[in-house]
Amino acid sequence: MSNPTKNALITGASRGIGKATAIAFAKAGYDLYLTCEKSIDALYELARQLEKEYNITCTAVQADMGDFSDVKELFANIEELDVLVNNAGICHSGLLNDMTVEQWHRVMAVNLDSCFYTCHAAIPLMLKKHSGKIINVSSVWGTQGASMEVAYSASKGAVNTFTKALAKELAPSNIQVNAVAPGVIDTDMNACYTQEEMSALIDEIPAGRMGTPEEVAALILQMATAPAYLTGQIVTMDGGWC
Ligand code: NAD
Repeated sequence: MSNPTKNALITGASRGIGKATAIAFAKAGYDLYLTCEKSIDALYELARQLEKEYNITCTAVQADMGDFSDVKELFANIEELDVLVNNAGICHSGLLNDMTVEQWHRVMAVNLDSCFYTCHAAIPLMLKKHSGKIINVSSVWGTQGASMEVAYSASKGAVNTFTKALAKELAPSNIQVNAVAPGVIDTDMNACYTQEEMSALIDEIPAGRMGTPEEVAALILQMATAPAYLTGQIVTMDGGWC
């Protein structure tokens, strides 16, 4: 157990990378705030299980991270925060020309605006302690760009520069801001692909497989406990793909 008194907020924790991250932080002794947009029963169940198994406090909250008022309400009940993991995210597959304005704004709201909303609320709490770690979950598409995922790629590219810029702003206050940029990870986010599409994709990955949510979670936890001189970095985890 690294430090049982530390608190972490992990957004989008009902499944996938967020859930694996919640489990990794619980094992490390953090008290947790977890959010999801829809699956609140699954999140309550996870919170109960983590409290029982790891003797921590775990608060589950249903909140749309792309909505400023939901994020404000969430933070109204948080008095201390050591680690913020901005994991909640959505993808949108299709030609840019077929995308509606509403779909574009939704991708930007959930993937990018959410980082502004949570950081805006978390920074004053971290400034009070003169310490903190902010870890954003980006994607390899944020630097490479993907056909049929233009909005997603643009939102993650913005998350990368948001990370680098905010790291510079907060380094004098001993708050570190980094991002992890996963390649293809085995979660429901990729459920839209057929088996043939998936195996064609895997053929391109030197590691010969998808990454697991647990591997990304382990990296996020390492970033949360990394020396303070690590800041402003986008760490790619893609099995040697990009
Ligand atoms: P997922 O779809 O399995 O899980 C996404 C989580 O985000 C869910 O818990 C969901 O409830 C939550 N969420 C979605 N919209 C939300 C909202 N508006 N408010 C609050 N919570 C919301 O996806 P995942 O693969 O676990 O993705 C997690 C993060 O990792 C995302 O930011 C995604 O872009 C990124 N990522 C995933 C992959 C991959 O291959 N799976 C690759 C690179 C980056």
